[in-house]
Amino acid sequence: MTGEEQTGTAIVLGAGMVGISCAIHLRKRGWDVTLLEKTKPGAETSYGNAGVLSRGSVLPMSYPGMVFDIPKILTGGTDAVRFDFSALTRVFGWAPSFLKNGTKARNRALSVGLSALVEHCVQEHEALMEEAGATSHLSKRGWIKVYRSEASFEKTAFEREMLDHYGVRYAVLDPKDLAELEPNLEPIYAKGLHILDTASVDDPGALCAAYAALFEKLGGKIEIGAAKAVGEAGDSATVQLDDGRALAAEHIVVALGPWSGGLLESAGANLPAFEERGYHRHYRAEGNATLNRPINDVDGSFVLAPMAAGIRLTCGVEIASFDHPKTPKQLEAVLPKARQAFPLGDTTEDEPWLGRRPSLPDSLPAIGKAPKHDRVWTCFGHHHIGLTTGPISGRLLAEMMSGEETIIDPAPYNPSRFA
Ligand SMILES: Cc1cc2nc3c(=O)[nH]c(=O)nc-3n(C[C@H](O)[C@H](O)[C@H](O)COP(=O)(O)OP(=O)(O)OC[C@H]3O[C@@H](n4cnc5c(N)ncnc54)[C@H](O)[C@@H]3O)c2cc1C
Repeated sequence: MTGEEQTGTAIVLGAGMVGISCAIHLRKRGWDVTLLEKTKPGAETSYGNAGVLSRGSVLPMSYPGMVFDIPKILTGGTDAVRFDFSALTRVFGWAPSFLKNGTKARNRALSVGLSALVEHCVQEHEALMEEAGATSHLSKRGWIKVYRSEASFEKTAFEREMLDHYGVRYAVLDPKDLAELEPNLEPIYAKGLHILDTASVDDPGALCAAYAALFEKLGGKIEIGAAKAVGEAGDSATVQLDDGRALAAEHIVVALGPWSGGLLESAGANLPAFEERGYHRHYRAEGNATLNRPINDVDGSFVLAPMAAGIRLTCGVEIASFDHPKTPKQLEAVLPKARQAFPLGDTTEDEPWLGRRPSLPDSLPAIGKAPKHDRVWTCFGHHHIGLTTGPISGRLLAEMMSGEETIIDPAPYNPSRFA
């Protein structure tokens, strides 16, 4: 503690994994908290992800050599990233700062902030799961990245170096090891990288719902409504709602995931927010086939994750405008490759789910006071790992707002770093 602890009234905007976690951690510190949500808790990005609590995500998304992949991305030559021309104007503003981080030196620098977040991811979730009665969703069997050739595996040398550097435990698997761990995976892989410290959940949406119920049990209030604008004046902050209402508190936290950038603009706090769209669809496993943990086929550009609802197939990044209609071409392209890997039966859904990963160019979230503000805070930008890092981010933000000593150094996530 710093001796200047404070509590008060707070409104947290957005009940995804990140906002719910902020709300719980503020409430635990005595804050009077309202969680404002447009639809229902955990129904958007935090619902549809691959369920991986990715302890090994210590590197940013802009990787060394990515710049040389741009022609392939622009011409549809890869299933990992699909570019749609609806995003052309915005991408011109965003891509240079994103690509600038794709050097080993920048990756190393950014890994400090990423590793600090993921280091605590499983313990922070477990603590909340215990309190929420939700431990049944957790599996601690790691996840496996699989490679179709030795050459492809060799490209992971830098990643392995960084995992070693941060003490993340992993095992390199040969085909025999893979067959023992995942007997229903077809023998098409040359190598696997089993990230042992990673965990997974079988229903991210249900986990969010359980955390939201915990928040209410702790005395928090959930309000349904859509925020339209935020601002602050004197000793209070205000959120205007679509339906004409206005809510005020001493502090407001913007945790709207991919919707955060737009709302922050209303407060004159412009951050380089971008959305990386992605899809999922569930399939039945044929016969008695099972998958014991999520599998990431790196060459195939897909993840297969065992979920309560079936096997969830997720695909890579689609760069398109925010409201561009669903174009699940990547999902269609990876399905045959996924069927080569695992006996997938019929889909259980009429159409694929679309979500938007909330991203910033350096792959670090923005946690702290919004630029030029004292009473508007942000907690968003968790890109591919927001399910993983929601609870630790919520705790960090609540500690900062409460004037406590923080569990990790908040400096890398300063929202004003882009100024
Ligand atoms: C295909 C895919 C796979 C992924 N896999 C993983 C994974 O395995 N592991 C992992 O850690 N991460 C994964 N992610 C990323 C992760 O899902 C996100 O980083 C995370 O869910 C972001 O959480 P959030 O709370 O910031 O946003 P959200 O979950 O989107 O929450 C934002 C909330 O704000 C609400 N809202 C929006 N506008 C308003 C408004 N105006 N007023 C009030 N409320 C509003 C929304 O309804 C929503 O509930 C994946 C993402 C995708 C797309």
